[in-house]
Amino acid sequence: MSTAEVSLPITETLTPANTGELADIVRDCYERETPIYPIGGGTSLGYGLPAKRSGIGLSLAQLNSIVDYPARDMTITVEAGITLQSLANLLEAERQCLPVDVPQSDRATLGGVVATNFNGPRRFGQGTVRDHVIGIQAVDGRGQRFKGGGRVVKNVAGYDFCKLLTGSMGTLGVITELTLKLKPIADSFAIVSCSPTDLSQAGQLLAKLTKSETTPCAIELLAGPAWANSKQLAGDSGTSNALFLAVAVEGTEAEVAWMTKQLATELRHEGIRSLHTIDGKDARDIFADLKEFPSEGESPLVLRANVVPSGTTKFIEALRQLDSNCSVQSHAGNGIVIAKFSEFPSEGLARTLVGRLQAVAASFHGNVVVLSNPGGSEMTHQSVWGATDAPYDLMTAVKREFDPQNILNPDRFVYIS
Ligand SMILES: Cc1cc2nc3c(=O)[nH]c(=O)nc-3n(C[C@H](O)[C@H](O)[C@H](O)COP(=O)(O)OP(=O)(O)OC[C@H]3O[C@@H](n4cnc5c(N)ncnc54)[C@H](O)[C@@H]3O)c2cc1C
Repeated sequence: MSTAEVSLPITETLTPANTGELADIVRDCYERETPIYPIGGGTSLGYGLPAKRSGIGLSLAQLNSIVDYPARDMTITVEAGITLQSLANLLEAERQCLPVDVPQSDRATLGGVVATNFNGPRRFGQGTVRDHVIGIQAVDGRGQRFKGGGRVVKNVAGYDFCKLLTGSMGTLGVITELTLKLKPIADSFAIVSCSPTDLSQAGQLLAKLTKSETTPCAIELLAGPAWANSKQLAGDSGTSNALFLAVAVEGTEAEVAWMTKQLATELRHEGIRSLHTIDGKDARDIFADLKEFPSEGESPLVLRANVVPSGTTKFIEALRQLDSNCSVQSHAGNGIVIAKFSEFPSEGLARTLVGRLQAVAASFHGNVVVLSNPGGSEMTHQSVWGATDAPYDLMTAVKREFDPQNILNPDRFVYIS
């Protein structure tokens, strides 16, 4: 069982052929107060509080068709069960893309990515999946269909359902259809990487990069065993220091050539002696590793922290004090830190999170969530979702409006009604 595949308490999995059938299933469950667990590609069903109430699995596997693709308008409308890879293959023919990089894209579905609001390294330069969803259709907890947004950018009169459902973990509605705004595929892509001596120097470089004359699409700070043997990142420096700063740029050949040269000048100006520019296949290989890192392999505990960017290196320091062998990927330009522990914290999850890491994150205006804990121990609300200062009552009232019987992914998300 890989880190993501978990056993949900489902009695059976239903796979509707279309939205009408899906709405009928939800309506029937509403009448019988039967819990529903929406299933996309199943790559992160372990994300969230463990499901307790037995119910049915609702697979979106057959809702995977293209509804409308006016490539000239750089938008596309698809059903939510389409995998990110199939979508990418289709868009590539028009030299277009959805610049959101998720692991296991041959299995991860668009609906699952939107429901979890997972994003990859290029969130820095290209924005998050939330920024690309301009229209949404879903079925609420009564089995009623509803929609928000539309086929054109800025078509949101009233409450923005696209933004509300993104990251709602399938607790407000089962997403059935999405309209996306797309981007052109860049002609050229390259990475400038170096190995800071320590986290303090890394922090200085990150601060300088916020004033760079270039426009990176990703700023990744990488630490730990997972990156130690990366020949491409280390280049001929042969460094064993498993701390790397990788800055990715994309655009026309000329733009990328200028930006990599400018970045090298800026980094050298900050005292970096050994750095190298990686392009072509090597750059794409590194990027594939960056994309797959969060869900790759077996880890007894995977966490994600969101802090202000200036808090990134301090948070990594706190992680290393807990587990000097943990592997870290940080979308450092956005203050996102993903940590894969090499062993489960001996002092237990609650002490590690509530007692230590959440306090560090809070000191940088952030939070820590559990992405995966295959052992499943101590998965309490506070340890999984951390502290939240959002208006809890208002949020649970919103949940009840969309799902009065609390049947959609019940008690798995932040707001438990
Ligand atoms: C440990 C770990 C870390 C990860 N980190 C990242 C990361 O940093 N960045 C990244 O981009 N990806 C990350 N992922 C990948 C993530 O798996 C996928 O990007 C995506 O979120 C899941 O897509 P899926 O279709 O497999 O969803 P599933 O695993 O099937 O479902 C995920 C959640 O979404 C709900 N859901 C699924 N489809 C729908 C729908 N149509 N309507 C309503 N709710 C729905 C499910 O009920 C479930 O709660 C990570 C995965 C794991 C296991």
